[in-house]
Amino acid sequence: MSSKEIGFNTICTHLGEIEDQQFKGAISPIYLSTSYAFEDVDVKRYPRYFNTPNQEALCRKIAALEKGEASLIFGSGMAAISTTLFAFLQKGDHIVLQRTLYGGTANLVNEEFEKHGIEFSYVDTQTAAGFEEKIQANTKVIYIETPSNPLLTITDIEAIATIAKRQGIVSMIDNTFASPVNQNPIELGIDIVIHSATKYLGGHSDILAGAVISTEEHMNRIFEVAKNFGGSLSDFTVWMLERSIKTLGLRVKQQNENAMKLATWLEEQEDIAAVHYPGLPTHPDHQIAKKQMKGFGGMLSFELQSHLDATQFQKALTLIKSSMSLAGVESTILSPTLTSHALLSEEERKRQGINDGLLRLSVGIEEENDLIQDIEQALNKVKTLALQD
Ligand SMILES: *Cc1c(COP(=O)(O)O)cnc(C)c1O
Repeated sequence: MSSKEIGFNTICTHLGEIEDQQFKGAISPIYLSTSYAFEDVDVKRYPRYFNTPNQEALCRKIAALEKGEASLIFGSGMAAISTTLFAFLQKGDHIVLQRTLYGGTANLVNEEFEKHGIEFSYVDTQTAAGFEEKIQANTKVIYIETPSNPLLTITDIEAIATIAKRQGIVSMIDNTFASPVNQNPIELGIDIVIHSATKYLGGHSDILAGAVISTEEHMNRIFEVAKNFGGSLSDFTVWMLERSIKTLGLRVKQQNENAMKLATWLEEQEDIAAVHYPGLPTHPDHQIAKKQMKGFGGMLSFELQSHLDATQFQKALTLIKSSMSLAGVESTILSPTLTSHALLSEEERKRQGINDGLLRLSVGIEEENDLIQDIEQALNKVKTLALQD
């Protein structure tokens, strides 16, 4: 069966599975060998060459999910991002990046690129014209992330891909927040798609992994760097990730639905000053989101009215846990100012529109009424506290 003939959930459950010829078991066997006997001199299997049986099988599944020709899986999202960037950038080259990036990606660029003589420019406006303006003669890569963290701004993927193609520049996207369920950038003309598989692909807050999907040609180039950097994923985790992806479509569908209902409910509450969710018609980029996304995802953020204490609110939640990561089946919340964006200066946070009272919610698969009830009781508690002050 080729991936063109089967639907998303069938790819999730079956594509790339390794048949258990010995015992006819229902799931892929796991091969933990780091050493394989030569069959012929061409096939040298070794985990750091990204070619063990489990790695190769899972790469077929992930490539199919993102409609790419090939993929590689890595030991973390950052291993995937750094390897891919260094595969396409060398001394004297320039990259144009969206300003609102995952913190780890921004740190990689800000702390490592200068050492390697790689130039970079950030785009503040996030419009296609904003990106085009920053392109120089030595620009080799355009890098975007949409929806962005934590304000869920949307970049027009097709518009960016068009500019990149016209100028002969490689386009890359961090597609972590959308997941392949909601957005397939390769279909919109993007060259290379990157995921922190720690998030939706893993989905159970128990796997650290990354993935890159593109054409055979680009993936070969990335592989040549990847084997030197050594960021491969252990086969045990590869096997866990295959298991996790079987339910990717179901999980994210429920997370989309829950997030849409929560965002709509939050917007109606007078204690809430703002809700950021691309699925809401009031979101400034809603039209672009509608054009390029199949669902609006499980991530949203909101601000309490300024007289309510966001930290007390977080503490008052009982079902929704305060936690750093995201995209698990359980709902989690964090304050970007105090955690993910704490390293930015106050001025930079203001510039990006991140207020101190902003909270980012990763919506899980729980019953939406239980989530609403939890938020409602926490709001009541902080309102009582505010009255006492
Ligand atoms: C978590 C995350 C990363 C980094 O992934 P790790 O698996 O933690 O290395 C990159 N991009 C986005 C959008 C993320 O959320």
